[in-house]
Amino acid sequence: MKLLIVEDEAKLADYLRKGLSEEGYVIDVAANGIDGLHMASDGHYDLIVLDTMLPGIDGFGLLAALRQSKQTPVIMLTARHRIEDRVRGLKTGADDYLVKPFAFSELVARIEVLLRRAAGTAPAPDALVLCLGDLHMDLARRRATRAGQRIDLSAKEFQLLTLLLRRKGEVLSRTEIAEQVWDVNFDHGTNVIDVAVRRLRSKLDLPFERPLLHTVRGMGYVLEDRQS
Ligand code: CA
Repeated sequence: MKLLIVEDEAKLADYLRKGLSEEGYVIDVAANGIDGLHMASDGHYDLIVLDTMLPGIDGFGLLAALRQSKQTPVIMLTARHRIEDRVRGLKTGADDYLVKPFAFSELVARIEVLLRRAAGTAPAPDALVLCLGDLHMDLARRRATRAGQRIDLSAKEFQLLTLLLRRKGEVLSRTEIAEQVWDVNFDHGTNVIDVAVRRLRSKLDLPFERPLLHTVRGMGYVLEDRQS
């Protein structure tokens, strides 16, 4: 995994380079916004750690330019007390942010989360059509069919079904589903997952003879063809 750090404070950049190298990442550093943009645009990075206040182009300008062509995950480093920076960063297309000064362990944890998420949302070309029994999902065209019949899904239902189908045969907990599809920590007080699953089931299974989406009591949900 190769990471780009765009940070003009040499001490911090050096600290991050050393620390993240020890975590097993390959690290490039850019010390200003212009170098950072060139490297981010031309290179192949799995993730970018981007400071907001930079000489040349600032972090927001860099990110806005980068997002014209690339969706590389970006964690922005913002100054303390600047809530508007965080909002602006997220609106510009940052995937996450950290407020300086931050704990190194928190940065590592957030990097891991984003890389895992990116791996889940960027399938290899041969993984763009997923099947189970008579269920077919074409991820590129965002179409799902059963027995040749189109299933009309909302964006969330499509994401949920994609997750379940990618991991078919595996029981997924509500917590994991919440993290992967809703990008939030599962709050035990809400039943958003169950409601979404029920809605998905009414479209996916109800009109057909064989149910594919099963509840595993006390554990979660699994998509599998039990009669094949
Ligand atoms: Ca700076």
